[in-house]
Amino acid sequence: MPLEYTLIRSKRRTVALVVQPDASLLVRAPLRLPERQIREWLESKQDWIAQKQAEARAAQHSAPPPKRFASGEKFAYLGQFYPLEIVERARPALALEDGHFRLARAAQAHGVQVFEKWYRAQAAKVLPERVQAHLPLFALFGYRPSKVRISGARTRWGSCSSSGTLSFTWRLMASPPEVIDYVVLHELAHLRIKNHSKQFWGLVKSLMPDYAKRRAWLKANGEKYAHLE
Ligand SMILES: [Zn+2]
Repeated sequence: MPLEYTLIRSKRRTVALVVQPDASLLVRAPLRLPERQIREWLESKQDWIAQKQAEARAAQHSAPPPKRFASGEKFAYLGQFYPLEIVERARPALALEDGHFRLARAAQAHGVQVFEKWYRAQAAKVLPERVQAHLPLFALFGYRPSKVRISGARTRWGSCSSSGTLSFTWRLMASPPEVIDYVVLHELAHLRIKNHSKQFWGLVKSLMPDYAKRRAWLKANGEKYAHLE
């Protein structure tokens, strides 16, 4: 079966293949490499390609549907899922009590906003605390954040500005504490090293030897746990 792919030639020395999120293939190749050789190379990788394409298709179909804020639906906080209960009361609009998220019926139509507000309130308490907890390691060498702020970013869990402001998205509150701590440490480490060089990762690893596991969890689950709409 001939493989379909998009070919981009450039002044490079090797062939590279990317299975894109829509399962299509993107091949980057040197300017003069004969297409027959490219095809042969691709054919030698057919098993790997088939597997990656299957994974990409599965991921596309598994994007979770928007929440309906109905009783029994589950929402995550600090890495645990709690079922939603609709309650007949005016306030608070949302609370985590006795292993349930309790949402006031009147707030049900604004579930996304109510949950976001709740996550933000937790983030404003928890994240500055976690920054403080890790700070001594950095303050010792004169590194401290000028400010900690909570953002609504969807694709960046945290960031560190040139002026030393650390930003964390409230969506992080759905992840387990050890994953939150990894993001906090990562951004604190940027106070010292701005880029993602080998030295940067070396610093992170020296302070948190199992950071790779936490980072992998975030990549695989972070969005799914924080998913509201
Ligand atoms: Zn970074």
